[in-house]
Amino acid sequence: MDSGMRYLLELQRLDSRIAEIGKLRERIPQELTRLNEELEAEKRRLEQAREELNSLKLRRRRKEKDLEVETEKLRKAQGRIFEVKTNKEYQALLKEIEAAKKANSDLEEEILLLMDEMDRRTEELKSLEAEVAEREATISARKKELEEKMAKLDSEEAKVQLLRKEVASRIEPPWMGIYERVARSRGGLAVVKVDGGICQGCYVNIPPQLYNEILKGKPMAQCPFCQRFLYHEGTLEEHN
Ligand SMILES: [Zn+2]
Repeated sequence: MDSGMRYLLELQRLDSRIAEIGKLRERIPQELTRLNEELEAEKRRLEQAREELNSLKLRRRRKEKDLEVETEKLRKAQGRIFEVKTNKEYQALLKEIEAAKKANSDLEEEILLLMDEMDRRTEELKSLEAEVAEREATISARKKELEEKMAKLDSEEAKVQLLRKEVASRIEPPWMGIYERVARSRGGLAVVKVDGGICQGCYVNIPPQLYNEILKGKPMAQCPFCQRFLYHEGTLEEHN
C-alpha cells in the first residue's frame, strides 16, 4: 500500500473514532437528565411522607383541643347536678352528661388511633429516609462517573482532532476532496477493505481487473459503485 493510501486509512480511522466519541457523548446529558429527575422524584416521595405525618400531628392537636372543650363541658354539666330543681331538668342534665361522656370517650379513642397511625408512619418515614439516602448516594456516584467520562471523551476528542489535522496535512488536496465528499455521502465511511473481490462498503463485486490491480498495490483505487477508497489487507503489509 502506498503512503497516500495509508494516510487516508489513518484519516478514516480517526474520523470513525471522532464519530464514535460524538455518539458516546450524546447519551451522557440524557442520562444525567434522567438521573436528576429520579433524584427529584425520590425527594418528593420523602417530602410527601413528611407532609402526611405533619397533617396527622395537626389532626391529633385538633382532637386534643376538642377533648379539652368536651371535658370542660362535662365538668360544668356535672357541677350543675346540685342546682337542678325538677326531675325533668335532672333527666335532661343526665342526658347532657351522658352525651358529653360519650363525646369524650369517642375523642380519646380517635386520639389513640391517631397516635398508633403516627407511630406507624414515623417508622415508615425512617426506613424511607434510609432508602432514599442510599438511592441518592448511588445516583450521585453515577453522576460523578458520567461527568468524568464526559471529560475523558472531551480530552480524547481534542487529541484525535490534533492527530487528524496532522494526517490530513499529508494527504494531497484532490484526494482529500474526494475523501470528504464520499465520507459525507456514505455515512462517514470513505475507506474500506476489499475482500475476495467484494467491496466491504457496498458489498458489490468489483471488476476482477480492478481487484487484481489492488492486489498488486494500485494506489487510490475507488469502488466503481460506491466510490469508496479500497484497500486490501494482505497488500497493506506487503507494500509497507
Ligand atoms: Zn463499494
